[in-house]
Amino acid sequence: MDIRFEEFTPLRIIRNLPECDLLANPLLTAEEKEFVNHFYDFLERDLDDDIKKLEELNYFVEVPTQDQKAQIIVKIMRKLAQKGYYSVVLDKDKYSVGHLMRNCLIAFALCGGRWSEANDKYVGGNWSVEMGRLAGGTLFCNPVDYKANKYQREHYLIPVARDGVVAASAMTEFEAGSDIARMELRIKDDIEEVILEGKKIFITNGPIAKYILVYGRLDNGTLGAVIVDTKDQTLENFKAIRLRTYGMTDAFVSRLVFNDVRIPRENLLEGNGLDIAFHQLTEERLVISAEALGDAAKKLLYSHSYAIQRKQFEHKLHEYQIVRMPINKNVRQLRLLTDSMINYARLLDAKRDAMSKQLARQAMGLKIATTELAFEASIHCFRTMGGRGFIRQYSVPVGFLDAYCMIHGGGSNYVLEDSESRQLFKYI
Ligand SMILES: Cc1cc2nc3c(=O)[nH]c(=O)nc-3n(C[C@H](O)[C@H](O)[C@H](O)COP(=O)(O)OP(=O)(O)OC[C@H]3O[C@@H](n4cnc5c(N)ncnc54)[C@H](O)[C@@H]3O)c2cc1C
Repeated sequence: MDIRFEEFTPLRIIRNLPECDLLANPLLTAEEKEFVNHFYDFLERDLDDDIKKLEELNYFVEVPTQDQKAQIIVKIMRKLAQKGYYSVVLDKDKYSVGHLMRNCLIAFALCGGRWSEANDKYVGGNWSVEMGRLAGGTLFCNPVDYKANKYQREHYLIPVARDGVVAASAMTEFEAGSDIARMELRIKDDIEEVILEGKKIFITNGPIAKYILVYGRLDNGTLGAVIVDTKDQTLENFKAIRLRTYGMTDAFVSRLVFNDVRIPRENLLEGNGLDIAFHQLTEERLVISAEALGDAAKKLLYSHSYAIQRKQFEHKLHEYQIVRMPINKNVRQLRLLTDSMINYARLLDAKRDAMSKQLARQAMGLKIATTELAFEASIHCFRTMGGRGFIRQYSVPVGFLDAYCMIHGGGSNYVLEDSESRQLFKYI
């Protein structure tokens, strides 16, 4: 049964809000704009139908939708990879736009959607899809690219980065959440193989991943990382079970169980697991910042359009300051933070091999500020839309609760802020 009521008409996004349009940002160079333009064309031409199908599946509550959603997500990742939009670790010098900037622009555009000139309508973004792209294309590919030997590159990196095979990165555990150094999953040595014993939680892409980078404790007590080939989820003694989340409704966030899983030794990455995991953190935080900014832009478009269209007490909602001001404040923040994101991405691309500690901290600060903005923009959009915010017919396309997840993704904001503020007092 379709749960939508015909009395609730779809909210029409009004075009005129250039403040939320990435292409209207004066800081972007001509090459960067061209890149964004191509991505938007691809989004509209190749992904829009798939994203719509994903959305539709959320309106048929009694029908099992997991398999259909999985097929769509797998297809989307392959399409992204065909155009070089899934991972940015390969052919870094082939493009006129730096790899980090490309990663950020894709993230913004995929979460934020776009106004389509050709069809005179808004083409929606989807943060769940982007989260799947981040998990496979960045969180798996970047550490593997950092440490893989020739065999590992050929067998595990190239299929993911070039062909768009779905991958995941598994750090978080039930006890070791923010404190990942306390991971307990065991990677035991057994001559030609290693044996995995333990559980992981909140792992994006877990049930649809072909390869998972699993972090755990080695026999010598240090942390290591091993690539698990799930054999298309048939691997013996391994289970990935999807979590039902509020928000990110199209993502495959999961619990993983390893019950004496045997993996060839050659799949172990060389080096310390914490160093491998932390290596890509700055990039991850900048990409999450771009995602959050795209998401905030999308929420603001919805709030703005609803405030213009909806009339109560004989006035349009935007005529009430209490509705208008938070939208204005969020738009101002969006502009300022988008400018920072563009500048950091550009600087970090230029300093590819010499990432300064200061820039890494700035990226952490930006992750906090942007995800809090997306969170706030979501709250205000929810307020502005009244009762409609509570029903799937509106909350799904708006993605109301998506921003709540990313307060924690890439490091919870309290933890990051605690570490950030500690730096200020370290010499006292
Ligand atoms: C949608 C989603 C997808 C995710 N995908 C992945 C994935 O693909 N792979 C993966 O490995 N993980 C993933 N995560 C895990 C995510 O990174 C963790 O949720 C996060 O690290 C927090 O861990 P926790 O939930 O155990 O919270 P806890 O560590 O229990 O923290 C609870 C609260 O306490 C605060 N807190 C904890 N320690 C401190 C401190 N020292 N100072 C101040 N405040 C503190 C935290 O900020 C948080 O607000 C995902 C999470 C979500 C929600």
